Amino acid sequence: MDDLKKKELVNSGKAKSLYETSDRDMYILHYRNDTSAFDGKKMESLEGKGAINNKFNAFVMNHLEENGVPTHFEKQISDTESIVKKLEMTPIECVVRNITAGSICKRLGVEEGLELNPPTFEFFYKDDDLGDPMINDYHIESFGWATADQVEQMKVLTFKVNEILKKLFDDAGMILVDYKLEFGDYKGQLLLGDEFTPDGCRVWDSETKEKLDKDRFRQDLGDVVESYHIIANKLGII
Ligand code: C5P
Repeated sequence: MDDLKKKELVNSGKAKSLYETSDRDMYILHYRNDTSAFDGKKMESLEGKGAINNKFNAFVMNHLEENGVPTHFEKQISDTESIVKKLEMTPIECVVRNITAGSICKRLGVEEGLELNPPTFEFFYKDDDLGDPMINDYHIESFGWATADQVEQMKVLTFKVNEILKKLFDDAGMILVDYKLEFGDYKGQLLLGDEFTPDGCRVWDSETKEKLDKDRFRQDLGDVVESYHIIANKLGII
C-alpha cells in the first residue's frame, strides 16, 4: 500500500475530493479547505481546515475500529490525504441527536439544548437540489437505496458510534450534541464511510456550552478552524 499511486479525480464534493489509485480497491480522499453550509449556498475557504479534519478523522476512525465499528479508513498518507477503501455508497445520511440543535429545532419548533432521552435517529436522502429531505425506512427500501438488512445495520452502527464517541467527548470535557454518518458496501460488508470531523457533528464545551463545530461557520461566530483545533487538543489529537 505504501507504493500506492494517486490517479484520476473521481469526484469532487463540497469539502473533499476522491481519487482513483493504482489499487482498484482503494481511493485517496483529499480534505480541502473549502467549507460549505446550507446545501452549498454559503462557501468559504478556511486556511488549515483540510489538514485538521484529515487528522481528526484518522483519529476518530481508528478509535471506532478499535471499538468494533468497521470503517473504510486505511491510513493517513499526508497532511490532507488518507487512503480509504472504495465503497458503493448508499445515498443516505444517518443522524443521531443527543441534544436538540439545528434542523430539528426548526422542524419541530423546539428550543436548542433540550436533552433527548433516548437519543433520536433520523434518515435523510442525500440530494442538495431537494435540500436533503428527511425520509424513513420505508422510503429507503421502496426506492431501493439500501436493503432492509443494511437499514438495520446503519441504525445499529450509528447508535454504537454514539456510545463510543459520547464517552470519548465527555471524558475530554465536551458534549457530543449530534452527528451525521454515511455508510457504503465493500465486498458485501457495510462499512462506515465518508468522515467524522467537526464539519459533520456538533460539539459543545461541557462547562461553557460554547459551540466548537461547523455551527461557528454557519452562524458567523468566527474562529472556525481555531475551534476545531480546540476540540482536537482536548482529545489529545494535537
Ligand atoms: O442540520 P441538522 O441539524 O439536521 O444536522 C444534524 C447533524 O448532521 C449536524 O451535526 C450536522 O453538522 C450534520 N450534517 C452534515 N451534513 C449534512 C446535514 C447534516 O454533516 N448534509
